[in-house]
Order: sequence, then C-alpha cells, then structure tokens
Amino acid sequence: MEEPEQAEQAIQLINENKEFNAETLARFNKYVGGRDVGFGYHVISVFGSQSSGKSTLLNALFRTKFDTMNAQVKRQQTTKGIWLGHTRNVAVSVAKSAGNDDSTRVNEDLFVLDVEGSDGAERGEDQDFERKAALFAIAVSEVLIVNMWEQQVGLYQGNNMALLKTVFEVNLSLFGQNKDNHKMLLLFVIRDHVGVTPLTSLKETLETELNDIWSQLAKPAGTEHLKLQDFFDLEFTALAHKLLQPEEFIKGVESLGDAFTSKDSTTGYLNPQYHHNLPLDGWIMYAENCWDLIETNKDLDLPTQQILVAKFKTEEIANQAFQNFEENYHVDLKKDTTASELAEQLKSLKRGCFEDYDAFASRYVRSVYQEQRKQLSIKTENKIKTTLAEYFANLSEQVLEELTLKITAKNKQTFADKTNVAKKFALDKFRSSAQVFTTRELVTSLGEEISNFEISVEKVISDERDKESNHIIARAGKKIHLGIKEEIFFLLAHPQPDLWDQVLAKFNELWKDSLKNFETGIDQKYDFGLELSESKDAEIRDSVRSKAWTVLYELVHDYLSEDNVVTILREKFENLFRFDENDSPRLWKNEEEIDSIFRVAREKAYQVLDILAIASTTDGVELVPDVPLRDGDGNMDLEQDFEDDEGVYHSKRFAHILSNSQKARILQKFKRQANTTVIEAKRSTIKTTTR
Ligand code: GDP
Ligand code: MG
Repeated sequence: MEEPEQAEQAIQLINENKEFNAETLARFNKYVGGRDVGFGYHVISVFGSQSSGKSTLLNALFRTKFDTMNAQVKRQQTTKGIWLGHTRNVAVSVAKSAGNDDSTRVNEDLFVLDVEGSDGAERGEDQDFERKAALFAIAVSEVLIVNMWEQQVGLYQGNNMALLKTVFEVNLSLFGQNKDNHKMLLLFVIRDHVGVTPLTSLKETLETELNDIWSQLAKPAGTEHLKLQDFFDLEFTALAHKLLQPEEFIKGVESLGDAFTSKDSTTGYLNPQYHHNLPLDGWIMYAENCWDLIETNKDLDLPTQQILVAKFKTEEIANQAFQNFEENYHVDLKKDTTASELAEQLKSLKRGCFEDYDAFASRYVRSVYQEQRKQLSIKTENKIKTTLAEYFANLSEQVLEELTLKITAKNKQTFADKTNVAKKFALDKFRSSAQVFTTRELVTSLGEEISNFEISVEKVISDERDKESNHIIARAGKKIHLGIKEEIFFLLAHPQPDLWDQVLAKFNELWKDSLKNFETGIDQKYDFGLELSESKDAEIRDSVRSKAWTVLYELVHDYLSEDNVVTILREKFENLFRFDENDSPRLWKNEEEIDSIFRVAREKAYQVLDILAIASTTDGVELVPDVPLRDGDGNMDLEQDFEDDEGVYHSKRFAHILSNSQKARILQKFKRQANTTVIEAKRSTIKTTTR
C-alpha cells in the first residue's frame, strides 16, 4: 500500500491579474511524480459567493490545503483568482466503518479548482472575472460544485443566481451551436441545512428557479429549443452547519465523498461522459490555451482547441520517440549479414519507436494521432532507407560479381543460355532480399533500388557481351592468321600462274572455317549466340571479315618483301636450272646447253615476279577486299591513296604488292645471283673438259 500523500499547498492557477501561472506544468509533474496518469484523472470546480465556506468544504472533502478565512488570520479578504489543488484522498464513510482512517485513497488523480471571486454583482470589473472564470471552469472541468447557503434558496436574489445565469449563458455560447454529447455535472451543495425544510423540497425550489433562469436567457438563434438538461446533469445535496453540528457536517461530507469515489455510474458523480478525453499531459496545455483565448476575448472553440493540443502533443511525443529511435539506432552491417537478420534488427528498432509513440499519443484525437504517426513512419523509414541503401549497395556488388562469374564460366553453354540463367538468378536474389524488407513493412517500396539494380545487371550483360564479341572476332582473326601462315605462305613461296585464284579460294575457306561454329545454314548469316539482332550479328561477321582481310593484307605484304621475293625467284630459277624434269641434278655438256637452259629458267623466274607483283586473278581482276580494312589502331583505311611527307603521291592498294622501283631492285639482285650461278656452272664444264 502506498502511503497517503501529504496534502500539498494549492497553487494559484490564475492570479488576480488574470494571468496563467507559468509554474503550473512543473507543479503538475510534482503532483503526479512521473506516474503515467493518462486519462485517469478528473477536474472538479467549485463556485459560490465569497466566504460561503467553499475552501473549508474542499479541504474537508478532498484533504486539500486551500486557504480559508480562518487560516488567513489577519487578511480581510480571500485572494481573488483560480486556485488549483491536487488530491488522491477523499473523505468517505465506507473506510471509516471498516476501521480505517477517515479518508480513502483513490486511484485516480483529482484536480480541484477553487474559484475565488468577490461579490460580483457589486462591481463591473469583477463581473468580467466571474464570467471568464465560469467559461474556464466549464471548458476544463467535469463537475461544477455550486456552493450556497440554505437561506439563499428560493430568494432568487444575490450573486448566486446572477452567477448561474452567467454559467448558463457562457455554456450556451460555447456549446449551443454544435451540441455534442458532452455533458457536465452541476452539483448543488446547500450549506447550513437546518433540516426543517427537507432536501427534496429545496431541490424542487432550485429546479424551478434554474428552469426559470434558463427560460429567461437570451438564447442565440438556433439554440431556442435546447433544454437545461441537454447540457447539465443536476445533483443536489445538503450539509449541516459545520460549527453547530460538526458531526452531522462530517457525515454529510463523507457521503459526498462516497459519491465522488463510487464506481457506479448511476450514483457516482464522476461519470466518464463528463471527461474531456484529453490525457493529463495535454490537459495543462489545453487549460492554458483556453484561458488565453478567454482572457483575450477570442472565440473559445473547444473541439478546435482539443485538436490543437493533440497536434502539439502528438508532435512532441513523436519527436521524443524519434529521438530515442535515433539514439538506439545501432545497426551492424557485416558482409555476411542476411536480409532477414537486418530486417529483424530494424523491425525491433521501429517497433520500439512506435511503442513509445503509441503509448502516449494514442490517447489524443484519433485523426491527429494517426496523421502524426504517418509522419513518424516517414521519418523512421527515411532513416532505415539510409541503412538499406548501404545494404543494397553491398548486395548489388556481391550479386553482380556472381553474375559476371556465371556469364564468363567456361563451359559448353552459349553466351545467351548462360546469361539468361545468370540474369534470372541475380534478379531473383536481389528481389527476394528486397521483399524481406517490404513484407515486414520496414519500407513501403524498394522499386527504385530494384530498377537501379536491373540497370546494373543489363550493363554487366552488355559489357560481357561486348567482350565476348571481341573475343569471337579476335579468335577468328587468330585462326585466320595461323591458316594464312601455314597455307597461303606456301602458295606464295611456290607461285603458280593462278596463284591469286588459289590465295583467294584458300582465304575464303579459312574465313568460313573460322566461323563454322556460328553458321545458321543460311548463306552469309551467322548467329554468335549473343542474343543479338540480325544486324548486330552481321556487324560482328563484317568485323571478322575485315579483320581477316587486314591480316591477309599485312601478312602477304610483309611476306613479299624485296629479299623474300628475290629468294623465291632464285629458288624458282635454280630449280629449273640445276634440276631436270626428273629432279635430277643436271650434268652440263657444253656452254650452249647452259645458255639455253639459263634463258628458259630466267624467263620463268621473271614470270613469277609478274605474278607476285600484282594480286590479280587469271581473269585479270585485281583482288579488292569486300569490306573496309582497318589497321591495328582501327583508324587507317588501308585501301586508299595518300601523299607522303615529301608530297609524293602513292597509290595504296591491296593488290599492289610491288612497285616498279621495287621490281627493278629485285630484278637487279636476282640477275646478279643468277649470273653467279651460270658462271659457276660454266666453270664446272671447263674443269670436266680440261681433265
Ligand atoms: P470561502 O471564501 O467560500 O472559501 O469560505 P471559507 O472556506 O474561507 O470560509 C469562510 C468562513 O465561513 C470561515 O470563517 C469559516 O469558518 C466559515 N465556515 C466554514 N464552513 C462553514 C459552515 O459550514 N457554516 C458556516 N456558517 N460557516 C462556515
Ligand atoms: Mg476560499
């Protein structure tokens, strides 16, 4: 059991200058000592003429410490203003009969407003305060106690009735236009009840009086049909004279206390429908706002006020929740952190944040609470998204690496087949990871991340496809290169009259052979297995062809250097000159024979030179590549005419293998060597004849 709280001195909520006490919030926090009060509190106000024993009653009933006339020994007047007391103790009869203390602990916090006015009827200035105090009490409290002497009942005079008229008027102005279900309790406490007149007849008299006041009110248009009972529940009770009948007085106070603590909604005074439905942490702000508006004579629109308070408070709570969320936000992103591990971490952080928010904010106006919740959700989502961005960047890098490995794997599959499988694997892996976060509602969408990843995948595939087509071109080029060296060089070294027909036929054979894996069966159409359009396939084919021709050009021109041609001519010449048709070495009989064989052999060698000098078919057509040729740097067209640095014009053609000056130099060298061979032959004849 908690210790009963010591009654605390009341504070002045609104002072005589009509100012709201700035320390109220701090005081409230002290009152509730950090407990989460939520809706578990009530606000009760008391009205009545000055020195009618209001404070005395509150202190007896609620164990509060409001100043009373007695306590203020010397002071003549009670201090004007609205005083606020707090209690969790109420005087009740049940506790006493059970042998306990004469007060009982209530679980809910009661806030009591003691309105200290003066006799308002007398001074205009005070009427203003009275009116404002009434507006305030109606706006913020659930029960309004009207305290009056028995002898005032039925007199229809004095400031009591003027006060009630004020209360009714302000109430109509506040709620008349849009009457909702909200009601408050008007509790009449008749003091110094002698007992001669029973409470029931006092009650009747008062009810008649109240209805009279109500009917005489100037009601705003549209509110004429509304009855007093539409706004107020009425309760009447009477208390004996405190000094003359102290025991009776205390008994009366205790049965009042019973009604304030009763959980029975028919006899209890604290009916839930009187509550303003603001949690305590919002009530203080609400009360202050209400007072500001009343004091500056602005429209006191309570529903709007409640919304404003709700907006302010939910935002404050959301900010606090988000701050905690950020402080707790430690996410460990290791290379092997799985999507579901990360999602669990984030989910628990997010859950914590919303638990913080919901615990306090859900008590406010639902629409405001939900709107603010949405905002909070966006903020947490943005924070989470920065982590996810990092996570997906890592994941993307990892999956793209795997994608590349799968595409470049060396196996029997075509590029297209490998790519399709690898692409599906990569997209599935990424999408299923993304889904882990969306299904857990950590983010609403990861569409952007997914489409960025898809773009990266396409980029990897297209880069690999480019590499692959370059490989195909290079591989075919190498094959052709090898083929030319092995087969075409042989043809060049032993030139036949149809040399270039043979070269061309061989070249086409090599070219076709280099692409035989990609043949479609349709002439000149190739499928390189790269999932390309027909025109792209044709481009690759043309590149291979261009490469092939370039290789042919370079190899042939290199091979047929001046020295090599001289060697080829000499070989041709010597074969004919030294060997007979049966490949047996000739034995010379005389110089005449040497001269005649020499002429024939030299003639044949000359013919070879003509064959080699210009690449043309037996039909006399020069060989011309059917595609543009590029050199290694890919920027020079090999089939073109050009001027050299000295301004000399050159015709550069595939077919033009030896220029006239080259031919002349070749002939000169060849002749010298051939002549040497002849002289040696002749010497050998002389030796044999002289022996
Ligand atoms: P308040 O101005 O309405 O708050 O009145 P107080 O509670 O300060 O009391 C004013 C005077 O009335 C004090 O001198 C009290 O002793 C006296 N008083 C308190 N209760 C009663 C009561 O039940 N009957 C009468 N006749 N006097 C009371
Ligand atoms: Mg008082």
